Amino acid sequence: MSAQVLSGKQLASEKREDMKASVQALKEKGVTPGLAVILVGEDPASQTYVRNKQKACENTGIHSELIELPETTPENELLSRIEELNRDESIDGILVQLPLPSHISEQSVIEAIAPSKDVDCFHPTNVGKMMIGEEGFLPCTPHGILVMLKESGVDIAGKHAVIIGRSNIVGKPVGQLLLNEHATVTYCHSRTPNLREMTRQADILVVAVGRYGVVGGEDIKEGAVVIDVGMNRVEGKLRGDVEFESAKEKASLITPVPGGVGPMTITMLLDNTIHSARKRS
Ligand code: NAP
Repeated sequence: MSAQVLSGKQLASEKREDMKASVQALKEKGVTPGLAVILVGEDPASQTYVRNKQKACENTGIHSELIELPETTPENELLSRIEELNRDESIDGILVQLPLPSHISEQSVIEAIAPSKDVDCFHPTNVGKMMIGEEGFLPCTPHGILVMLKESGVDIAGKHAVIIGRSNIVGKPVGQLLLNEHATVTYCHSRTPNLREMTRQADILVVAVGRYGVVGGEDIKEGAVVIDVGMNRVEGKLRGDVEFESAKEKASLITPVPGGVGPMTITMLLDNTIHSARKRS
């Protein structure tokens, strides 16, 4: 069997076309969706992520504002910039690019963002809403994965979803969203013994570790759906966490890296920003 390759790039570009129309409709009502992105320091990977987010905003018609602060910015100064953006009526979403320099508490920064503008869905209020299935922002990468599964016609209810990784950004929330869709969810992490025993039981396998090759064809059940979240530089090339070639022979559906989950993540960020702006229309 050779898996169908699920192109997040293709789906993202279709979704973004629809979003352009939504943004245009909002503009006709006098509302231009606005996203503020704060970048502290000069980490090259963060600079690339921020640039990509800005470019995506521009292409969709969303106003984006980049606030670049030096590495040495004191925490209280960052918090007061967030406060200003919380009050700014032209801004619908605020995103602080992580990681932050070690003298700044990520949690304090996340909690300073008004939940109504927390388009990354990291604020405890929004995480709580997601847990209990209340309407609100959904975290971008997990939401992107859910949309990819649904749009490819994957039946989630009753399936066994195995998630490798338990970060607050990817692992935990993707499991929660799949649970909300009635999957039976198993979380694995660095202390899980016999990882292969778990992954081989997965109907839907989500891999969010950050290490190339953590999963290969021999770890996958025949016909499984494999979602590769990882982004790793291997000999200068962008690779996922999954050995794509061997996994493709076992899976029924698999996401590539690049061109899989990544483009959907940014698309869901745009989606959250547009949703937030609708409250002003
Ligand atoms: P993270 O915070 O470092 O979490 C990694 C998780 O993997 C942890 O829960 C860790 O377990 C687990 N882990 C580490 N080694 C393992 C092993 N050998 N076996 C099983 N589990 C293991 O990373 P993250 O932020 O979730 O990101 C994960 C990957 O996704 C990274 O490559 C990141 O770049 C990528 N990512 C991609 C997107 C996108 O849009 N495509 C978005 C976000 C992240 P412990 O908890 O026990 O330490």
